[in-house]
Amino acid sequence: MRQNNDSGKEDWNSLWRIKAPSRTKHLLWRICRGCLPSRIRLRQYQVPCPSDCQLCGNNNEDDWHVFFDCDTTIQCWRTTGLSDLLEPRLHTFSDVKSLIIDICRSEDRMVAGRFAVMMDVIWKNRNDFIWHNEKEEASKLGMIAFHNWQNWLTAQRFQGRENTHQNITSWNPPMEGWLKWNVDAGFNNHFGPTNRGRCVRGKQGNFIIAGVAWDIGTLSILEAEASALKEAIEGPIALHLTILSSKVILNRLFKASTPITMVDLSLV
Ligand SMILES: [Zn+2]
Repeated sequence: MRQNNDSGKEDWNSLWRIKAPSRTKHLLWRICRGCLPSRIRLRQYQVPCPSDCQLCGNNNEDDWHVFFDCDTTIQCWRTTGLSDLLEPRLHTFSDVKSLIIDICRSEDRMVAGRFAVMMDVIWKNRNDFIWHNEKEEASKLGMIAFHNWQNWLTAQRFQGRENTHQNITSWNPPMEGWLKWNVDAGFNNHFGPTNRGRCVRGKQGNFIIAGVAWDIGTLSILEAEASALKEAIEGPIALHLTILSSKVILNRLFKASTPITMVDLSLV
């Protein structure tokens, strides 16, 4: 016996967290929100269109039939290897939204991602047939969905490596219970002073203390950075904080053949 397992709480976070292309997650969200223009829904809004499923001609075309009940659709799920994921739920849930949310909430994010891509392929195949009279064999749709998801995942992993490489110098918040102290120095070649700034930020990246200072005259890069570092050391001492990690400072000072642009200190 099917049941409506919708507790009234909409767990959209679990939907957006699945590993799938944004378009497919948006499709799931539209289905859950009752926004998908199936024929039955269009007729509810007085759109003059047939009510039967164009793919099989046997049933009214509502969301449940499109994705889980049409002959073509059932074969798709089998060929994509997701039958074990779906079939028990077909007997448990009575509406598409509850089924989708349960999969997103309960299943591995990768598996839920494959499910989302399969849903997208089914919907696209339905649209292609209605609007262009073109459709793929059910056995092919499962393979298309699998390859679409694999290609997307490969692209994400490649992009992730690119981002990792690019973010080597990006700012990261300190650990829980720690503060991060950043300093930097700047030069005004036209007016002469050498400036330096400092800020302390907490776990959320929130500013706790910040300040600026300057020296008359143009210092060398090494002198300016060393001056900023000196204040970075003096600041925590004045605040009765203990420097736990000064290795960064020492490394920077003794390898100062390259300009120092930013130094962080971890404090408690
Ligand atoms: Zn059908």
